Formats: sequence, structure tokens, C-alpha cells
Amino acid sequence: MSEHTSHGSPGNRAISLDSENYYVCQRCTACCKWPGDVRLEDDEIPAIAAYLKLSEQEFLGQFTRLRSNRQGLSLIEKSNHECIMLDGNACRIHPVKPSQCAGFPNKWNFPGWQQVCEAKAIPMSNAIERGLVKNR
Ligand code: SF4
Ligand code: SF4
Repeated sequence: MSEHTSHGSPGNRAISLDSENYYVCQRCTACCKWPGDVRLEDDEIPAIAAYLKLSEQEFLGQFTRLRSNRQGLSLIEKSNHECIMLDGNACRIHPVKPSQCAGFPNKWNFPGWQQVCEAKAIPMSNAIERGLVKNR
């Protein structure tokens, strides 16, 4: 699978969640480089705008576009398909990133996701003890 393959977003129907393991992100940034929507929910806008020290209108104008299905907003992407918020290997809005980003691959994924994501499996019990599992 090419790094330029689009893997969609949490609207994917074919997800395969693993109740035994939790997958710890290794920050490889692959999922920040896939073409396609980075869904932005309405209730995520105030925190991201505040984090960037922008008004909501400034944030929306500079960093968002309509989703491909025109049913909501997405972060825009650079000409190389990277998310506009990716700065080197870091997310500019990591503490307030959209739920699409925070939820992959534990809350949504797609067939074959482990071929393109470096997240490492740990037992779910261990993840719960470490406070890594939220809103189960
Ligand atoms: S979720 Fe997976 S693909 Fe995305 S940055 Fe983490 S390890 Fe990489
Ligand atoms: S918002 Fe951050 S975590 Fe989400 S795709 Fe963009 S750079 Fe990656």
C-alpha cells in the first residue's frame, strides 16, 4: 500500500477492533500523511482555536475546508497530502487534536491497518492500569 493511499476516516464500515489489546501510537506520523479528510467536529473547534490563540473564525478560515462529502469540516492538507497541522514529526495541536486522530487505531481502523501503522499492542488490562483507555 502506498503512503498516498487514502484510508478514509471513522466513517469506515469495516473496522476490526481488538478487545484483548490496546495499541500504543509510536508517532510514526503515517496517519497524518494519508490523503483524505481529517474530520473536525463542531465541538472540537473552540479548543483547537484557543490552543492556536486564534478566534474560531480565524482558525476556520486558515485551516479548514468542507469534507469531501460536504457534510462537515476537515482540516486542510498540504500539496503533498500531509495534514496542515503536521510540523516535521509533530502535531501542532496534539493536546487538542480531533477525535479522528486520537481514535485511530483503537476506536476506528480499516482492513489491513497494521500494515501502515506502527502502533504497538499491549494487553488491554495493562492499558487500563496505565490510564490509556478512555471512554470505553
Ligand atoms: S496511530 Fe499509527 S500511523 Fe498514526 S502516528 Fe501512531 S503509530 Fe503512526
Ligand atoms: S491534526 Fe495532528 S494528529 Fe491529526 S492528522 Fe493532523 S497532524 Fe496528524
